[in-house]
Amino acid sequence: MPDWSTTTWVLASGNAGKMREFQQRLAPLGITLLPQTDFFQDEVEETGLTFIENAILKARAVARVCEYPVLADDSGLRVEALGGEPGVFSARYAGEPRSDARNNAALLEAMAGESDRAASFCCALALLRGPSDPLPLIVQAQWHGEILEALSGADGFGYDPLFRVPEMACSSAQLSATDKNRLSHRGLAIDQLLAQLTESSRS
Ligand code: IMP
Repeated sequence: MPDWSTTTWVLASGNAGKMREFQQRLAPLGITLLPQTDFFQDEVEETGLTFIENAILKARAVARVCEYPVLADDSGLRVEALGGEPGVFSARYAGEPRSDARNNAALLEAMAGESDRAASFCCALALLRGPSDPLPLIVQAQWHGEILEALSGADGFGYDPLFRVPEMACSSAQLSATDKNRLSHRGLAIDQLLAQLTESSRS
């Protein structure tokens, strides 16, 4: 594992839940994460049709205005019975202003009476190691579960209270931070990113 003890990255996200999860995984490795608001006040327009496209758009916008490597996360929930919705629109499923509570209410309504509850969280990460990095690191991962019939649990963020984790028989809002990071789409994507970084530091 490379020594990242002097490494500072910027997280291209204003989402406090994501920041918490990344910090928990990266701080023990010596990676300090700065919030994008230290450099960038605008909202990046997420015009991509895929999580990867949006992750690159976010990383690129922030990398233009700071000198640090920039990590971007684009993630969301794909629900089978809804044809993959809300997908890349997960954060704004119930419209603006964005609200986890309204998104969860909209999802419950859309799923009322539906017997196929299969769903997965998806996460794409892009790490740009400079504004003109021609070889960004790109990874993506999924976490399979089911949509609950009612909110359950108080931790996490977003759709966590509605996402049942079959292997733990609880919602992802009832998992400890350590368990969520071990099992989740984001935790699995971070594992892949760190493996790629280790590999690229050898070559
Ligand atoms: P983004 O900021 O455009 O990537 O939007 C991500 C949205 O997907 C969040 O606002 C949440 O609604 C949802 N989401 C992504 N990851 C998670 C998670 O780990 N738990 C719950 N909801 C998530």
